[in-house]
Amino acid sequence: MKNLVLFGPPGAGKGTQSALLVKQCNYFQISTGDLLRSAIKEKTKLGMEAQSYMDKGALVPDDLVINLVDEVLSKLNGKSFILDGFPRTKAQAIALDQLLLNRKLKIDLAVFLEVENKKLVMRLSGRRVCQTCGAVFHIQNMPPSVSGVCDNCGGLLVQRPDDVENVIEERLRTYAANTAPLRDFFKESGVYVEIKGDNSAELVFGKILELIK
Ligand code: AMP
Repeated sequence: MKNLVLFGPPGAGKGTQSALLVKQCNYFQISTGDLLRSAIKEKTKLGMEAQSYMDKGALVPDDLVINLVDEVLSKLNGKSFILDGFPRTKAQAIALDQLLLNRKLKIDLAVFLEVENKKLVMRLSGRRVCQTCGAVFHIQNMPPSVSGVCDNCGGLLVQRPDDVENVIEERLRTYAANTAPLRDFFKESGVYVEIKGDNSAELVFGKILELIK
């Protein structure tokens, strides 16, 4: 199976598609956002350092996330992986190449999920996440059967602190300034593919499956 980078703006569907790839294709997901949120929950040193950046919608410093990814890459056990939300800067992309080279691994495809800004704001502001199992819902597009309650585990659904309007705007600005330019980096590496991310999750997933066949 192919090793993937899933990238695109916040709200493009990286997490949703990664979850489907994990469930249906047994991929190993490396989501720096999820890892940082767990670090915050567990009040680790990394979590405490990362929180102020995340609350503002800014990027956590490169060295912290690069070390985090380095640690996780040592737990792959031969599985194919998806990088979800990493790299987000050119420095991270360059560091990633080196980390992979050290382990004789490589990225086969960098899948860019394209979604227009208006839709991103709608998706992010309506997103609700299960406090217990992390399942993701949307108050309009993917509502749970009982409002505020997770369909999977009965946990409480909450809004991420960075899914509020002013932070969403900052995250989109951060993305445009730092992460969007990575499209050229991946194009030059010959691994870049683009998918329209504004279709249903099932349709987008079908396209990804065709690409990784
Ligand atoms: P996400 O869950 O991918 O939307 O990430 C949530 C937040 O975590 C981002 O707004 C950043 O503050 C931080 N973060 C996640 N991944 C990275 C990364 N690769 N580099 C820097 N900050 C990150």
